[in-house]
Amino acid sequence: MTIAALDATSRPSVAHLLVRQEDEDEFVLGNPATGRFVVVPEAGARLIELLAAGHTVAEVADVLEHELGEPVDVLDFVEMLVEAGLLDEREAAGEAAAPRVEEAEQGKKVKYWVVSKIPPWVVKPLFGKAAWTFYVGCLVATLVMFAADHSLLPSYEDAFVVTDIMLSLVITNVVVMGLAVVHEIWHAFAGAAAGVKSQLRLERRGIFTVLETDLTGLWALPPAKRYSPFLAGMGFDSFVLFAAVAPRFAYSRGWLDLNPHVVRFLAMLVLSQVGKLAFQTMAYLRTDMYLVMATATGCKNLHQVTRLGLKRLIRKLTPVEQTILRDADAKDLRVARWYRLLYLAGIVWMGWFAWNFILPAAKVTIGWAAGVMVGAPVFSFYWWEGIGLVTFAFVNLTAPLFVALRNRIRARRAARVAVAV
Ligand SMILES: [Zn+2]
Repeated sequence: MTIAALDATSRPSVAHLLVRQEDEDEFVLGNPATGRFVVVPEAGARLIELLAAGHTVAEVADVLEHELGEPVDVLDFVEMLVEAGLLDEREAAGEAAAPRVEEAEQGKKVKYWVVSKIPPWVVKPLFGKAAWTFYVGCLVATLVMFAADHSLLPSYEDAFVVTDIMLSLVITNVVVMGLAVVHEIWHAFAGAAAGVKSQLRLERRGIFTVLETDLTGLWALPPAKRYSPFLAGMGFDSFVLFAAVAPRFAYSRGWLDLNPHVVRFLAMLVLSQVGKLAFQTMAYLRTDMYLVMATATGCKNLHQVTRLGLKRLIRKLTPVEQTILRDADAKDLRVARWYRLLYLAGIVWMGWFAWNFILPAAKVTIGWAAGVMVGAPVFSFYWWEGIGLVTFAFVNLTAPLFVALRNRIRARRAARVAVAV
């Protein structure tokens, strides 16, 4: 890409960019307005500092060459920032943006999730030391109760809270989805407590469709501050799990009398929460634990580097993919060597899960629905129930395909825009 108005005499306007030291020779360069970040060496940070002071491209190149003892391609660096979405072309060329363009830019600005805009002081107590001690305490207490009474462990039958299959599916799904939304709200709250706004997205993880809070802005914070927002969702899940197991534990000991419907409902909650917490540990699906692991190992792009490293073994990489792998961080490549095994194991597990749980469940649901629809008079209650079940099974099975398709269309559109630029 070449920007027509950008040359050696330009003064790119970079004052709005945020520069933060991450490591000895690693700086994060970010645009808080668009949520885009890149990691650059110290020379890159110095370059931005000089541009921000109002020097031209040529002047900055002179100063850097004098300081570093070797020539630096400042033009190339500024173009890279435009490609990465940190600067727009007018900012790169240093022209004052015309009001009309600014209006157009407004539309492109990131729309943050409304719950992530809550003032930090309101949500900070939910993620302080006391709060985290509580979340961890919930998880430990639950494990102790599971160990003391194995009958509290979940089984797949717990998904059926009432004898009517359809009603059970509706109740279970509404509750599971409601809790998934609160899980995401907890991420967004923890991000807000750290001063970072986020976005809510629908994403695909392997064969699963998931809601996801995009906390890209966290990468501008020091690693130690990222753990709380990454783990917040699991903290909430641990609390719900404890709240569901504790009454059943008391009930099984005869300390508490509970309605059998309540017991069944609590059992369903336990199944849902155990399933969710187990899912989060599948790092290869880029779940919450992946983010924690990537932060702990200091990796930048572990998932993509691993995926491309494996793809290279079976298929030819595109030129863009080759460049990504060639320019990959040494740390990413090192960790990818063992992370690769985890990744492969995860894909095998997902196939096993689909074969043993998803397909049989779909078969039972669709078979049952087909039987009802054939047997029940058209437009009767049971006939509608059959239609509802088939629709539900179909949406569940195909949702990941739709998300994959949507992402592919978006990527293609983005590529087209990049070519046009
Ligand atoms: Zn989460």
